[in-house]
Amino acid sequence: MQTNFTAEQLADPHVATSEKILRKCVHCGFCTATCPTYVTLGNELDSPRGRIYLIKDMLENGRAADAEVVTHIDRCLSCLSCTTTCPSGVDYMHLVDHARMHIEETYKRPFWDRLTRAVLAATLPYPNRFRLALKAAKLGRPFAGLLKRLKPLEPFGVMLDLAPRVLPKASDSAKPGTHPAVAPRRGRVAILSGCAQPVLKPEINAATIRLLTRLGVEVVAPAGEVCCGSLVHHMGREAQALEAARRNVDVWLGEIEKGGLDAIVITASGCGTTIKDYGFMLRLDPAYAEKAARVSALAKDVTEYLATLDLPQQEAKGLTVAYHSACSMQHGQKITMAPKVLLKAAGFVVRDPAEGHLCCGSAGTYNILQPEISGKLKARKVKNIEATKPDLIATGNIGCITQIATGTQIPILHTVELLDWAHGGPKPAVLS
Ligand code: SF4
Ligand code: SF4
Repeated sequence: MQTNFTAEQLADPHVATSEKILRKCVHCGFCTATCPTYVTLGNELDSPRGRIYLIKDMLENGRAADAEVVTHIDRCLSCLSCTTTCPSGVDYMHLVDHARMHIEETYKRPFWDRLTRAVLAATLPYPNRFRLALKAAKLGRPFAGLLKRLKPLEPFGVMLDLAPRVLPKASDSAKPGTHPAVAPRRGRVAILSGCAQPVLKPEINAATIRLLTRLGVEVVAPAGEVCCGSLVHHMGREAQALEAARRNVDVWLGEIEKGGLDAIVITASGCGTTIKDYGFMLRLDPAYAEKAARVSALAKDVTEYLATLDLPQQEAKGLTVAYHSACSMQHGQKITMAPKVLLKAAGFVVRDPAEGHLCCGSAGTYNILQPEISGKLKARKVKNIEATKPDLIATGNIGCITQIATGTQIPILHTVELLDWAHGGPKPAVLS
């Protein structure tokens, strides 16, 4: 694609990066067929190609974002299905990240939209605040229906609906500390404690720690770690996201100095995609660029790391698992086989639902901010999963677990919970 940026515009490193991305696009439109919002809405402006044109026009003309651009960029899930499909290697992720930053800097959203986003950014990344908010949600639940009928307040009604009825107790797995290997030691890793996940499903990291320590891996949960920054990054709040990234880089480099790390193990693929991108996010910060790249190189999804440990084959369990590959897993991190290979070797029959490339509609805060499109995608996803007639659903991202669980009665677990059980851990409570 031809671009027309001035030398002055290209002096801005963000514009220079976006210009390189734009020039790779050859307008072929292959990406439209696999874009969940285009498939759902049928509007070119809600396709990757349409959004690329909107971003190009906005950046080239040095314009502030307007309501039209914001509408179509907000509808993008950042699922990155388009990057998997694109034959020209267009790096849509970094282009839309830049567009979101530009929107945040140049566009004043309506009051209720600003308030909703401010509440999400001030709550979700902080486990204590998030836990308090979920407790408060019990009081607000009777008003969920009313809030959802008042358009500007709809996201608050959706949040109340999504809040779990019963909140699990805080787990030791979320506390800082070292979990020694209980077999001959063969590695040392840090585990990302996370923000929303340890509040909603502490059993995921508990299962990971049990499994890894049984396999001879020491697991450290370092003190001082914060949310990976993904949630605010996708809202265009770059300063907040970079601050989180810098803090985590310092914490993990501190752990490397203390005892060395073979990997930073992440159990939420949405967080994994962002941490693997810290090197890019902090590339313009001379104090952190190199350190962040080092951290990104160590970041591994838990299944990616487990695949290096040669887990023994287990007996057949007689259970069929529909494997839902989170977008951040398959498109963001390009991890497609490891989770399924591990589940099969653990004795499960694994099925791939149709349209596996399409997002479930969770996408960070998307299900709160864009409930209508999100609801349609959830219904489509659940229909495809249920068509495989599974006993269980497995996936590797807390957002997908929360989203899909509200649309089906079939138990949904994190892949590592099933692997822990199959390799000698306790049976997950939801299956008992
Ligand atoms: S990231 Fe997903 S929703 Fe956004 S343009 Fe690409 S395929 Fe469409
Ligand atoms: S598939 Fe790639 S090159 Fe083709 S229109 Fe989409 S982004 Fe551009």
